[in-house]
Amino acid sequence: MSTAILWLHGDLRLADNPALAKALAAHDRVLPVFFDAPAEGVPWAPGAASRWWLHHSLTALDAAIEGLGSRLIVRRGPVARGLAELARETGAQAVYWNRRYEPAQVATERAVEGALATAGVSSESTQGSLLVEPGTLRTAAGNPYRVFTPFWRAAQKVLRPEPPLPAPQALPPVPGTVVSDGVPALELLPREPWDAGLAASWQPGEGGALARLEAFLEGPVARYKERRDYPPEPATSRLSPHLHFGELSPRQVAWALRTGGGPPPAPSGPSAGGTPGPWSGSETGAEAFLRQLGWREFAHHVLYHFPHTADAPLDRRFEAFPWRRGYDRLLAAWQRGHTGVPLVDAGMRELWATGWMHNRVRMVVASFLAKNLRIPWLEGARWFWDTLVDADLANNTLGWQWASGSGADAAPYFRVFNPVLQGERFDPSGAYVRRWLPELARLPDRWLHHPWEAPPAVRTGAGVRLGEDYPLPLVDLQESRAEALAAYRAVTDAR
Ligand SMILES: Cc1cc2nc3c(=O)[nH]c(=O)nc-3n(C[C@H](O)[C@H](O)[C@H](O)COP(=O)(O)OP(=O)(O)OC[C@H]3O[C@@H](n4cnc5c(N)ncnc54)[C@H](O)[C@@H]3O)c2cc1C
Repeated sequence: MSTAILWLHGDLRLADNPALAKALAAHDRVLPVFFDAPAEGVPWAPGAASRWWLHHSLTALDAAIEGLGSRLIVRRGPVARGLAELARETGAQAVYWNRRYEPAQVATERAVEGALATAGVSSESTQGSLLVEPGTLRTAAGNPYRVFTPFWRAAQKVLRPEPPLPAPQALPPVPGTVVSDGVPALELLPREPWDAGLAASWQPGEGGALARLEAFLEGPVARYKERRDYPPEPATSRLSPHLHFGELSPRQVAWALRTGGGPPPAPSGPSAGGTPGPWSGSETGAEAFLRQLGWREFAHHVLYHFPHTADAPLDRRFEAFPWRRGYDRLLAAWQRGHTGVPLVDAGMRELWATGWMHNRVRMVVASFLAKNLRIPWLEGARWFWDTLVDADLANNTLGWQWASGSGADAAPYFRVFNPVLQGERFDPSGAYVRRWLPELARLPDRWLHHPWEAPPAVRTGAGVRLGEDYPLPLVDLQESRAEALAAYRAVTDAR
């Protein structure tokens, strides 16, 4: 009887899990294990919202594995030594896992390979978290892509619709007593109960991921292309935390888009060569959605090739950018949603309450922090990292580098989002701002996105005293924009 270990990290699912499928094909028994080793990921160890998600996702996975006859072994790191020890305890001949591409994870995987080789245990890793493996696409000159559009064009040439792998029907248990610390021992949940809003908004785990995908395919995908930029509407998928934790693979999503969300094939079902059905919903909606998955691919590709970008600008000229000094008060106001600029504050309060923020608003709050407030973008990235349930080093890094104008893609540094115009365009009825800023709810639409310009009588009639019920803007939008542009010019003209 041969035994293998399945090391789960960033792939907390049973369906379409290539490492699991390979292990099951070659061995009689497969023991799934998760290691909590946050110290190995410093300085980007999982934040509070991620840890909350991880607790619930692992609990759901444990229950699903029990349903198949086995159980999830949970241990605390270091991973390399822990896996070698577990192989010795169980007599496992091999360890399988799906590769990850963040710098700390790449280093951990190298250490695991070394420790297993020393212990005489074979190791096999496979690709399961992306559509295209980082490192495989290059420009004609042989360099990594730095701009999205040509990257995505090249990716589409190699992408083939592939059916996802089915979940196993059973997982034979490994005999003997293998000690598991159990999920609660990881102490991932907050000591102070601030997580009610997260619990009300999300269902972590593979079941929640599939339900979310199904709900998206049933309706919103058809109007995704037209409505995805409007924060008050439930027009996007909200799959980001599920994708980040690997409760769902991008291949499952891409296949479901193509086949209308039917179940993955049964073990005896159609082969990989099966003919995919038509696009579900409107074709353009599905294509636009796939393109957003392309941004996820691009983000992982950029971080893989330029690992320093998690902490420093991709464009090195911006290391000399004159950030504001002594910004603690302004940063705290931004974090708490007290900047006096309604769209920014609504976004920051949505983030605090639910662990998620609409993409359009993420761009606006990030631009406001890095440009209008001239606070280093890393401060914003760190706050997102701690508060987002979908905090993802590749996507977060790319988003902040893009918004601060110092990173990948063709986003010009001189693009400064105007939060008033963005609000009037993408939240014209004010539903989003009114939801998150009830203190402004009675202001007429016309003034909602810039209450400081409303006539005093209008504000009084709406029960808004600026500086008391709601803050005055931290900075003048036009002046701060001009200052940011001057600072950027000083940097770009210097060379
Ligand atoms: C400053 C900033 C920080 C961000 N930080 C993160 C982060 O930590 N984690 C994260 O997953 N996304 C991040 N994003 C990207 C984007 O905002 C979210 O992926 C998206 O809002 C998630 O909502 P959704 O699942 O409904 O997206 P949908 O519109 O339904 O898109 C489907 C999926 O495509 C991917 N995707 C969509 N847009 C992007 C994008 N611009 N970049 C990379 N992938 C994308 C996500 O996996 C998403 O779940 C950030 C964007 C900005 C501007």
